[in-house]
Amino acid sequence: THFGFKTVDESEKAGMVHGVFSNVASKYDVMNDAMSLGIHRLWKNAMMDWLAPRNGQKLLDVAGGTGDISFRFLKRAPNAHATVFDMTQSMLDAGRTRAEAADMANHLDWVCGDAMDLPFDDNTFDVYTISFGIRNVTRPQEAINEAYRVLKPGGRLMVLEFSQIPNPAMQWAYDRYSFNIIPPMGKIIANDADSYQYLVESIRQFPDQDTFLQMIRDGGFENAKYRNLSLGIACLHSGWKI
Ligand code: SAM
Repeated sequence: THFGFKTVDESEKAGMVHGVFSNVASKYDVMNDAMSLGIHRLWKNAMMDWLAPRNGQKLLDVAGGTGDISFRFLKRAPNAHATVFDMTQSMLDAGRTRAEAADMANHLDWVCGDAMDLPFDDNTFDVYTISFGIRNVTRPQEAINEAYRVLKPGGRLMVLEFSQIPNPAMQWAYDRYSFNIIPPMGKIIANDADSYQYLVESIRQFPDQDTFLQMIRDGGFENAKYRNLSLGIACLHSGWKI
């Protein structure tokens, strides 16, 4: 591509993603705030506004990391139940410590595994979320298909992910910010420029809004829609298992 990035082949990707998140787990929450200037919080709240959590619901929060999405869900619906699912045990461990501090541990489970092969029965969950996770999955379509399988009929999928800015001038400015600022910032805060170089490249390579919408439809989801956040820097995709 014109950025000259190496394409990561499939067999390398999972191991590399795992390495990135093992390295950054303890700094993950701080880095998130620093890189996005705190804006990821607004996006996650917008996700909750659209999702409208309800008591009694069972949430599966895939690539849930340190639990940000599950915590927000339980704040809005304290009698819901959330399963945080992630392939990186150290992310889950950091999240579990946070949950105990916030007195939410009773409403949470923490499960380690791969989004492409969920260890859950068909028709189990009311809600499936994946926030800044699907981009890292080796074959995203397989994760979408698994989401459909484990959701109950009437259940809902919601994806929060970086996307592409439809306005080319804005996309150019944003590329300059991400490629020139983020890896050096990762070096300073986490002493790990390479992980953050991978992250910005993976953002640029992820399918745009309409392409990803079609992937959700191909997975069987109905009434699929998206909403751009911050001009399309990020995007929410929603779909229903009817
Ligand atoms: N959802 C949290 C948030 O929004 O702050 C954490 C997102 S973090 C950027 C991405 C997470 O995806 C990492 O914790 C990583 O371990 C996890 N991940 C990547 N590939 C995965 C896969 N195939 N299955 C499960 N988790 C995966």
